[in-house]
Amino acid sequence: MIRLANVSHDYGGRGLLKNIDLHIAPGAFHFLTGPSGAGKSTLLKLCYGELRPNDGDVELFGQPLSALSRDALADTRRRIGVIHQDCQFLDHLSLAENVALPFVATGRQVPEADLRELLAWVGLAGQADSLPPTLSGGERQRAALARAVIMSPEVVLADEPTGNVDPEMSQRLLSLLVELNRMGTAVMIATHDLPLIRSAKTMVSARVLRIVDQGLQSAGS
Ligand code: ADP
Ligand code: ADP
Repeated sequence: MIRLANVSHDYGGRGLLKNIDLHIAPGAFHFLTGPSGAGKSTLLKLCYGELRPNDGDVELFGQPLSALSRDALADTRRRIGVIHQDCQFLDHLSLAENVALPFVATGRQVPEADLRELLAWVGLAGQADSLPPTLSGGERQRAALARAVIMSPEVVLADEPTGNVDPEMSQRLLSLLVELNRMGTAVMIATHDLPLIRSAKTMVSARVLRIVDQGLQSAGS
């Protein structure tokens, strides 16, 4: 679904990512690890078309990124759910409104029952009307997960989803992502939370990819 071939990217100056090959297939569960600053967030951005690589080819659902117009890219990105590191909520909108935003952006109303079901799934049914600044770290991450999946994406990309939450909440988030994967959604999680990876391996056949010396190594599955 998402394929990077011989992709290199940096922001000017020293190199960052070099000759990366990556394929996220339907139903895959990948972890992306590597030291802070190795380029994990950058690699995720390349995977959802937020960044165009300096070199190499990115293919999203069979279409070369380089050939996608702005509008076509916007459509394609609805097939990819993204959980941003900082969640990126609009603080003046309620949790439910924030979760519904991707839907509203397509000009349609999200069916009320679907929204309720989704909030219940992430355990936030009681917080639908809360404003984001009043939520705890774990609640924000679960709301970000709900927003990422409201369009029923084929793949979910998560950037350090457990960065600001306690181990119990990390486990809960992981369980939701595993459940999503069992229903057929591909998942890639950028993290340096090693206990999280160990725990995931008891639940799902996960592949661990590591950025080492600007390249991508497979640490097995
Ligand atoms: P990671 O997610 O592994 O911590 P990032 O992809 O966030 O790594 O960042 C990799 C490197 O690229 C870091 O040194 C970071 O400072 C730099 N970087 C990230 N985004 C930008 C940007 N927009 N402009 C310039 N440098 C950037
Ligand atoms: P955690 O320990 O998981 O970080 P918090 O102690 O931050 O949780 O929050 C616990 C509860 O209090 C949550 O339900 C959250 O929504 C609520 N809460 C936190 N901050 C505020 C606030 N400023 N106003 C209203 N409710 C809040």
